[in-house]
Amino acid sequence: MAYKISDACIECGACEAACPVGAISEGEGKYVVDAGKCIDCGSCASECPVGAPNEE
Ligand code: SF4
Ligand code: SF4
Repeated sequence: MAYKISDACIECGACEAACPVGAISEGEGKYVVDAGKCIDCGSCASECPVGAPNEE
């Protein structure tokens, strides 16, 4: 399991700074989670102003 960022992302970058394992990076039009690195901590979802990261 890993978190996934939806199209609601406004590219603020808060989740990238909050991720303890560096799993989040800027993608095409939104930020993206590297599912292979994500440890399911939920920090990105807690920091996101628009609720874009969700558990898959
Ligand atoms: Fe990073 Fe945690 Fe979000 Fe996974 S759930 S992308 S480890 S902040
Ligand atoms: Fe996108 Fe939310 Fe991450 Fe900001 S915190 S870059 S809106 S997913």
